Amino acid sequence: MQRLKGIAITHGAAAGRAVLLVHRGRAIRFPIPAERTGDELARLDLSRRRSRAQLESIRQRIGQGPGSELAPLFEAQLLILEDPMLIGRAADLIRTEHVNAEWAVQRAFDEIAHVFDAIEDPYLRERRGDVEDVVGRLRMNLHDGASAAPRDLLRDVPGPFVLIADELSPSVAAQIDWGRVRGFAMDAGSRTYHTAILARSLQIPAIVGLHDATARARAGETVAIDGTTGELIIDPSPDVLRSLLARQPTRPDVVPAPSGPATTRDGVCIRLEANVELLEDVAVAQRHGADGVGLFRSELMLGGQPIDALSEERQYEMYLRLVEGMAPRPVTIRTFDLEESRAPGRHGGWDAADRRTSEAERTRNPLGLRGIRLSLARQELLTRQLRAVLRAALAGPIRILLPFVSAVEEARAARALIGGVVRDLRAERLAVPDVPVGAMIEVPSAALIADLLAREVDFLAIGTNDLIQYTLAVDRTDERISEFYRPLHPGMLRLLRLVRRGAARGGVPLSVCGEMASDPGLLAVLIGLGLTDFSMTPAAIPAARRLIESVSAADLRAAARGALALSTADEIEDYLARAVAGVEQGSPLGERIL
Ligand code: PEP
Ligand code: MG
Repeated sequence: MQRLKGIAITHGAAAGRAVLLVHRGRAIRFPIPAERTGDELARLDLSRRRSRAQLESIRQRIGQGPGSELAPLFEAQLLILEDPMLIGRAADLIRTEHVNAEWAVQRAFDEIAHVFDAIEDPYLRERRGDVEDVVGRLRMNLHDGASAAPRDLLRDVPGPFVLIADELSPSVAAQIDWGRVRGFAMDAGSRTYHTAILARSLQIPAIVGLHDATARARAGETVAIDGTTGELIIDPSPDVLRSLLARQPTRPDVVPAPSGPATTRDGVCIRLEANVELLEDVAVAQRHGADGVGLFRSELMLGGQPIDALSEERQYEMYLRLVEGMAPRPVTIRTFDLEESRAPGRHGGWDAADRRTSEAERTRNPLGLRGIRLSLARQELLTRQLRAVLRAALAGPIRILLPFVSAVEEARAARALIGGVVRDLRAERLAVPDVPVGAMIEVPSAALIADLLAREVDFLAIGTNDLIQYTLAVDRTDERISEFYRPLHPGMLRLLRLVRRGAARGGVPLSVCGEMASDPGLLAVLIGLGLTDFSMTPAAIPAARRLIESVSAADLRAAARGALALSTADEIEDYLARAVAGVEQGSPLGERIL
């Protein structure tokens, strides 16, 4: 028996057979049953044939026009595609290790890259990039394609099980049928990592930040998750298992919770909406009494696919389901908040223009071409999304929320684009309504100019997850520095106060949709700072309602004033622990301050 300590995301316990999901670079390794290796080999072959056809057509097109000097490059890529060291090796791996084609291709590339790295001649060494390009194309063509629904990545693994991943991005998480997952553990991650948020909203016992769980646990052995202590127990003894599962809380409310605004003892109305990651969450939000959807993270609809994989029609169907599921309550759709890595070149693939950006740069750069910046740089994609959203607005109230806004110009440009799409749709005889447009406040510059942004948009929504990470310079996905991620840092309290004042000066509604709102203790502080609109993980709404109904807003305001006079996060936490007595205990963060 081994115990690994991490960060508890959801209270509750779970035990079951371990399924390991290991991520290498941008490919994920998952097991394929022996009898399905033939199908996997066929996928690999289809991808090779598609890649060949694409490369031949590029070579031909390029050979005839300007840039013909690049034609040999594509000839070289065609040769690489047929090289047994790549496809042949990947096929061998599928046959012998029973793994998925994406991972096999990645592994084969790693082996080749190793050889290239050892070459002295710089010209030859650089040919590694050509192989990488071919691998990128193969991987892209292994995707199901725009029309097919994202596949359940673990569809061949019999459930239920406990999923242990090294790093599971939200887009990959969206390709998993969570109904079969009893518990979830991850090497990487922090409390605000998107997949952690997803696990919390699905109320699956989960622990993140375990560092090396995938190295320590073996596939198939029994593991247990203790969401109270934040421990993953590998091969637990029968006694430990029994006492752990005996402590398991009963599954939460199946009876619909009350809805509508919650009112403090002194009569302040607080609006409680839900953050929704998947369409299935709409029913959960309804059940927990959400007054609307305050944040729909639309990019998660993509699963693992690139940004241009979803047609206008497909998006329209999804938004329609969302709006109809929540009607008559409003739904706030955030436009795609993606990084550049998910936006292939204009010609639909990793084409020559993309070669300038290295794989590593494209893979992860949360401070790069992201959110509204990417949407404005790729206006055809934003236009497609907006058309789908605005068409769905005929079925019920929708608000559009712009992510990662850092300057007034971005809000203006997005509004102009939205205005144009509305005009086009009306010219097509669709009576689309005027839809409120809001900006997320999650970059410090946006917080500092909240009053100026308030003149450009109809509402503001504070994304505390990112606002904390960028203000305090703490990568929210890096568990090694999670101790520096302090929502109650005095700088955060000041910034939140500034945003509240800026929104009031501009006369626009302001909400909070970051994870801070899901924590009853921190929610109390936010109410004390004068905030009244919140959007949170659906499962957190009933506790938030109980908290609100048990406190007086005036008391919380006095407590927040006291906290604002202090100098350190520790002092503020200690002070609030005494000042906000009697407030319901909630998540571990709340327990720390209350
Ligand atoms: C936030 O940053 O607080 C937020 C709600 O957006 P996300 O968690 O999707 O980055
Ligand atoms: Mg954010």
